[in-house]
Amino acid sequence: MMMKKRVFIAAIFLIMTFFVMRGGLDVLKNSEDMNERPGHKEISGTIKNGETFFDVFKKYGLNVTELFKIRQASANIHRLREVYPGQPYKIIIDRNNAVNTFSYWINDDSVLNITRTETGFSAEKKDIEYEKRTLHLGGLIKDNLISSVGNGKENLLLALELSDVFAWDIDFNTDIRNGDIFKMVVEGLYLDGEFRKYGNILSAEFVNNGEAYKAYRFEHNGRSDYYDPAGKSLRKAFLKAPLSFRRISSGFSSGRFHPVLKIYRPHHGLDYAAPAGTPVSAIGDGTVVFTGVKGQYGNLVIVRHPNGYRTYYGHLSKIEKNIKKGVKVQQGQIIAAVGSTGLATGPHLHYEVRIKNRPINPLSVKIPPQNFIPKKLRIAFQRVRRDMDTRLASISYPMLASADKSKGVKTEDIKRTEL
Ligand SMILES: [Zn+2]
Repeated sequence: MMMKKRVFIAAIFLIMTFFVMRGGLDVLKNSEDMNERPGHKEISGTIKNGETFFDVFKKYGLNVTELFKIRQASANIHRLREVYPGQPYKIIIDRNNAVNTFSYWINDDSVLNITRTETGFSAEKKDIEYEKRTLHLGGLIKDNLISSVGNGKENLLLALELSDVFAWDIDFNTDIRNGDIFKMVVEGLYLDGEFRKYGNILSAEFVNNGEAYKAYRFEHNGRSDYYDPAGKSLRKAFLKAPLSFRRISSGFSSGRFHPVLKIYRPHHGLDYAAPAGTPVSAIGDGTVVFTGVKGQYGNLVIVRHPNGYRTYYGHLSKIEKNIKKGVKVQQGQIIAAVGSTGLATGPHLHYEVRIKNRPINPLSVKIPPQNFIPKKLRIAFQRVRRDMDTRLASISYPMLASADKSKGVKTEDIKRTEL
């Protein structure tokens, strides 16, 4: 009985997810049609592969001379020669087929509006104003983060955002386990009642191998950042790993093609087995003190950080052109690519941390104190935290009995929050 109930609940969740996701995908598919209204007609559609506005004008028998005027009017705002397949447009014409208004959705954030004036046309670019809703998502990890959050571009981007939030604590390439739990409170951006894309992650929880990590988005000094339950910034001097999950994953649309990275600790450093060419990032801000070939390390980059730390990146196939001795690097910046130069049996990154030239365990680096939320904002932060904790606690995720436990589940919150 229990089992049946669980499967039933899981099925309901999956159906809900399906509808919410479908809503997201269909938004831009304005059917191409001509709406007759008294005195004028509306032409709307989306740009097809290889199509230009010249083609659109010819298709509907519009005056091409007007298109040239429209292009001129918008030249300083957006070049209409550069249009992208799938982007919607709307043209309103009068009885004589003359263009009254012309709108083209440049991207997810802005629309180009052109209107007829007494002398010709005038153009303006407007921000698309989304309706924000608060969404609750949760799921279990199966195989990898990306496929577990869900299919499609928006879910991929959301998974990468989540990996960024916890990039100082969790290495999403090598740390995560099947059965890990993720929960998110995230902005959903809607147009005309339809889901379009995700906005900011407002709060997140990730249970990795039994250990729970939490993040709360909070703004002060005009800057939004993520904090732990104690109000301590999640940013640290060192990232959890020199191989960025985002850098590696953003090229993959499906988790199936995501390379499985492995970590080994055969000696005083860490070895990351990864495909040759995988981008290597600086673990923290610092100054390059060595690049070149050095014995068993093969191609090597050494970066000096504050507090006496040095990080070593060895066996590289390639060092970025701008990475030279004396150059400053930023945390997360790509400095090189994985290879198998020097003493290496296969492509892997040899990563080492030294202090006063003595190797130490990279995973136990003592990190300088982090930034706390200022005292006067603690109460405001605690209010946000309490609200988010209630939301996170309410998020359910598919049961283990479900046929497809890997997909995230999204529910929509009725109450809209201003944060
Ligand atoms: Zn090694």
